[in-house]
Amino acid sequence: MIDRFGRTINYLRLSVTEKCQLHCDYCRSSEECQNSKELTAEEILRLSRVCVKLGLDKIRLTGGEPLMRRDIIEIAENIGKLQNLRELTMTTNGQLLSQCAKELYRAGIHRINISLDSLNADCYRSMTGGDINKIFSAIEEAKKAGMNPIKINAVLLRGINDGEVNNFLHFSREYGVTVRFIELMPLGRLSDKPEMRITMKEILEKNPVLIPGEKTGEPAREFHFSGSAKAGIIAPMSEPFCDSCNRIRILSDGTLRPCLGCIDEISLSEFLGGDDKMLSEKIERAVFNKPLGYTMRDCEKPIRDMSRIGG
Ligand code: SAM
Repeated sequence: MIDRFGRTINYLRLSVTEKCQLHCDYCRSSEECQNSKELTAEEILRLSRVCVKLGLDKIRLTGGEPLMRRDIIEIAENIGKLQNLRELTMTTNGQLLSQCAKELYRAGIHRINISLDSLNADCYRSMTGGDINKIFSAIEEAKKAGMNPIKINAVLLRGINDGEVNNFLHFSREYGVTVRFIELMPLGRLSDKPEMRITMKEILEKNPVLIPGEKTGEPAREFHFSGSAKAGIIAPMSEPFCDSCNRIRILSDGTLRPCLGCIDEISLSEFLGGDDKMLSEKIERAVFNKPLGYTMRDCEKPIRDMSRIGG
């Protein structure tokens, strides 16, 4: 699908739940936002099928925490069978991954992103509430299952984990994973703390070992270090990539969000009872009208935080 600004939209980020067992401040603002009605596995498949028919050929399952859904393997398996789907991936906090990495791989998830904000067990626990050892075993199991690449997402926060860039680079080389540092977006409890954001420029100034690679048009800008090892920086705030944005989001309650950083939303749930034609038209129109760039601003309370939209 092509939007009114000529961008090709071929990527769906599909949130399957708002629930998450972790409590990362930058991602969530309150506890009560985890109770919305969730799409069923069947509805998720239907939406995916319609989107793939419309030309979206890459789907990422996200949340909330996608592995909190008991039927996640069934969901992945069914989507994985869709003809013309080129890539099925997942972003997870990794806490439950080691138990199901093989099944996920069999279901069609061959690449995975795992969020890990600190390599220090105490810091990781205080930032997220999670157990870092579960992530280390998750990475091992994902590798054994055959997942490749395995990418590590780390949101850097000033005064908390911003001194860990070098450790992350060592870690990524040792574990054979690719780390990507993400700039803090105002989409959670820290939306009023832009001073905590570590920008791409700052990372590069403090870590001259990172040598810029070719620009690829992907959100993650690629860098090399120690020969062929690679890392990425995702800088939506200091270097927005809206011009080349190729994605839309469907939230776990059936809402379509054409742009992560705009409040425009289209409810698809009322069309789930009708035929595919109506649903397709609604999605096509929303894609066509996708905003040119985001309107989220620092210090403005987000209408929905990241955990509800699906990162
Ligand atoms: N629960 C899964 C996880 O932890 O990876 C998937 C959902 S989470 C919303 C997806 C990604 O969004 C994570 O890598 C997280 O670090 C990132 N994220 C969440 N809130 C963010 C924010 N305010 N700014 C930048 N990245 C954020």
